[in-house]
Amino acid sequence: MATVLIVEDNAANMKLATLLLSNVGHTVLSALDAETGLTLARTEHPDLILMDIQLPGMDGLAATALLKHDPATAMIPVIALTAMAMKDDREKSRVAGCDAYIAKPLRYRELYEAVDRLLEPFDAGDNSDRSGDPDSSDSPESSDSPESSEHPDSSDSPESSEHPDSSDSTA
Ligand code: MN
Repeated sequence: MATVLIVEDNAANMKLATLLLSNVGHTVLSALDAETGLTLARTEHPDLILMDIQLPGMDGLAATALLKHDPATAMIPVIALTAMAMKDDREKSRVAGCDAYIAKPLRYRELYEAVDRLLEPFDAGDNSDRSGDPDSSDSPESSDSPESSEHPDSSDSPESSEHPDSSDSTA
């Protein structure tokens, strides 16, 4: 899968993020402060960075700005993590160059969605467009996230064929 660098000084959050990402097959690098994170970003070239905003010493926004101004690391997507869902933080993270924003406490769905979205250019998405799959797939429409039953009203309804486009009928 991908290599994800997590820059986070809170041990519990680091543990959770590491667990969530390694559970889906990513390799996780961890840094407890911005300086270590910058060094790892330059030497290890991760595919994605989870950047806590509030860090001891240099904060995550300053670190992101440095990453985005360095041609060697500018292309690495950065997901900002902050403890408070403040609109101010969201705007600041965008200005600093963050590609996405997640408010803590971490929710696995939100994390996975942001990670998948930002990693899509790397490994061509497995859920976006699979029109060019000739004969190797024996499970064509299996949605590979079985825990996606967050719809409170339709969890029991057996009709899972919600695809209105009948792409088989050659229009
Ligand atoms: Mn922190």
